[in-house]
Amino acid sequence: MADNKRDYYEVLGVQKGVSDDELKKAYRAMVKKYHPDLHPDDKEAEEKMKEVNEAYDVLSDKEKRAKYDQFGFAGIDPSYGAGQGGGFGGFSSGGFSGDFGDIGDIFESFFGGGFGGQSRSNPNAPRRGQDIKTSVQISFLEACKDTGVDVRVNRYERCPDCSGTGARAGTSAETCPSCRGSGTVRVTQRTPLGVFQTTKTCDRCGGTGKVINSPCPTCSGQGRIRKVFSKNVKIPAGIDDGQTLRVTGEGDCGINGGPNGDLIIRVSVRPDEVFEREGFDVYTEVPISYLQAALGDEITIPTIDGNIKYRIPAGTQNGDTFHLRGQGIPKLNRNTRGDHHATIRVVVPKNLTKKQQDLLRAFNDSLDDRNSPEKKKFSDWFK
Ligand SMILES: [Zn+2]
Ligand SMILES: [Zn+2]
Repeated sequence: MADNKRDYYEVLGVQKGVSDDELKKAYRAMVKKYHPDLHPDDKEAEEKMKEVNEAYDVLSDKEKRAKYDQFGFAGIDPSYGAGQGGGFGGFSSGGFSGDFGDIGDIFESFFGGGFGGQSRSNPNAPRRGQDIKTSVQISFLEACKDTGVDVRVNRYERCPDCSGTGARAGTSAETCPSCRGSGTVRVTQRTPLGVFQTTKTCDRCGGTGKVINSPCPTCSGQGRIRKVFSKNVKIPAGIDDGQTLRVTGEGDCGINGGPNGDLIIRVSVRPDEVFEREGFDVYTEVPISYLQAALGDEITIPTIDGNIKYRIPAGTQNGDTFHLRGQGIPKLNRNTRGDHHATIRVVVPKNLTKKQQDLLRAFNDSLDDRNSPEKKKFSDWFK
C-alpha cells in the first residue's frame, strides 16, 4: 500500500523535524487550498483534502509521528491508509475544530476576505505620535486673567544624533537582505500536490524592510529618546476648573515621519475663600455693620479686579445683593465679561456691655412702624 502513498511530510510540504506551529500553519494553508466548501464538486480536491488530513492526523500526534518517523507507513495503524474508507469524516468532525480551538476562525479566513491575503499594515507607514496628558493647578484669580504656566512632561523626541533613523552617525539603515525591503518573505512549498506559496513577516527585520547594522548609541536604534520637556503655556483668561487645553504638536514625536502628538493640559482651578464662580459670574459676600446698613455707607467690595468702593443706600437689608455688570470673569475668546454679585451680610454686634444694652433698648423703644414696614405687615397679619 505504500507504493502509491505520498510521504506525509511531502503532503504537507514541510521538512522532517518541523515544529508544531509550522506544521499547523502548513496544514491550515492546505485546508485553505482544498477545503470542500471552496471546491464543491471537485473530486480531486476532495482526495487531496483527505490526504492532507491523514498526514496531519499522524504528524500532529507525537506518538504516531515518532512511529511514522521510525517505521514509515508500516509503523502506523493501517486504517489510516488512503482509500480505506476514511473519507471526509475526520475533516468536519471534532478532530478538526479540536485542533484549532475555534472553527469559526478558519471559516472567517475562507469567507471573510482574508483568504490568502495579507492584511498586515505597513510598519513603515507614517504614524502620529502619542498625545501626552498632564495637568496644572492655578488659583482662582489666575484663571480670571491670561496666565503663563510652566508645564513639564516626559516625551519622546526625535533622536538628535541620528535624526530619527536609529543608525549610528555616518551609517544608515540598510535594506533588509532577507526580504529585500518588502518586510515579508514568501515561503514556497513544493509538494506533489503543487507549489504552495505563503507570505509571512520577515523575521530578520520584523517587517520594517530595513536593518540597522550599527545602531545609534544615543537611542539604541529606536530613533527617538525620552526627554523632559518644559514649556510656558499660556492659559487664557476665563478658563474654568476641569477644562483642557490642547497644545498642537507638543506630544510625542511621530514615527516614520508622521506628525507629532499633542500636549493636552487639564486645568484645575483652586477654590477661593472670597470669590465663588458660576459660569462667568462671580459671587461675594460683604459683611457690614447694622449701622452701615441702617444709615447707608460707602463700602468696599472685593472684585477680581481688586477692591472697589460702592455706595449702599440707607436701609440696606441683610441678604440684599448688588450687581456689578461686566465685572465678572472674561468670557473665553470673547470681549465680554460676566457680572459680579455682592450679597450683604449684616453683622449683629456681640458681647454688649450693660450700657450698650440700655442704649440699644432705648433706641428700639424709639422705633415705630415707619422704621420697619415689613414688621408692621407681619404684626398686622398676626392680629
Ligand atoms: Zn526583512
Ligand atoms: Zn539615535
